[in-house]
Amino acid sequence: MNERYSRQVLFPGIGKEGQVKISSKHVLIIGAGALGSGSAEVLTRAGVGRITIIDRDYVEASNLQRQQLYTEEDVAEKLPKAAAAEKRLLAINSDVEVVSIIGDATPQLLEELVVGVDVMIDATDNFETRMAMNDVSQKYNVPWIYGACVGSFGMTFSIIPGKTPCLNCLLRSIPLQGMTCDTGGIISPAVQMVIAHQTAEALKMLVEDWAAVRTSFVSFDLWRNQYTSLKMSKAKFAGCLSCGEERTYPYLDHENMTKTTVLCGRDTVQIRPSSVGEISLERLAGQLSSLGYVVKGNPYLLSVEMGEERMVIFQDGRALIHGTKDLTHAKSIYQRILG
Ligand SMILES: [Zn+2]
Repeated sequence: MNERYSRQVLFPGIGKEGQVKISSKHVLIIGAGALGSGSAEVLTRAGVGRITIIDRDYVEASNLQRQQLYTEEDVAEKLPKAAAAEKRLLAINSDVEVVSIIGDATPQLLEELVVGVDVMIDATDNFETRMAMNDVSQKYNVPWIYGACVGSFGMTFSIIPGKTPCLNCLLRSIPLQGMTCDTGGIISPAVQMVIAHQTAEALKMLVEDWAAVRTSFVSFDLWRNQYTSLKMSKAKFAGCLSCGEERTYPYLDHENMTKTTVLCGRDTVQIRPSSVGEISLERLAGQLSSLGYVVKGNPYLLSVEMGEERMVIFQDGRALIHGTKDLTHAKSIYQRILG
């Protein structure tokens, strides 16, 4: 066994056998913000065989306080988080196969990505994606680890299909929706605490120590010194549409996915085109420059200054419009630039 993992192999919960299992497993991380970059780093250092990480955003200065994979250079280059994460993760451990995807974790894409995955980690900032992950988990029998944090508060729960209640079941007893899009700020230790819980659970699942997996719902507040662990064994709901007998996986209904969304806690609207196809950023940059727009970019995206607003366009035609929360206004800007 590689010297690199000697301390982890010495740990009785893992051992040589556990390390072999870890190195043969595939983890899918949805989101490369604070939770995603932390989980990805821990699991990369632990020697997971393959890590797929997906994110729709790019690195900004306000991320550096807590998103541990990123640097000032990534901010200056406006690198997409997935691309910056891949670069850093491979520098940490080149044994790990890292697959990075710059894009939106739509139900359709999640159904493609989940094939062959052993564990999914929730590092997203929105409820729609979490519910889609939850349905994908049940449909393809892949466990996932819910995690969320805001301020000094965080919570986490491990969801194993056929064993624990699912996120849709939990909604009947815990008001989780309110947690997902807060603008109230956040401290890094709260993020780290959720990452510690999520990655410890992930390691237990990767070494197949199912008896060790936590079955309670954890929430904590590091500023108020509170730590709560709630038993969830009775939360499973027989009529649940995601995990019950009459299941329909309601959150995988592609028609229900919104194409225009206000991003969490930011003056930013995301617009996803209905037909997916690569656009030539180079050609578009040329056209926009000749029309007098100030355009900057890298191989992954273009940033266009437009007075009050700034529009960032990705290769798949998806765009972030900064400086507005008005969906109609954002759509008119998108139309003006991309027709
Ligand atoms: Zn359920």
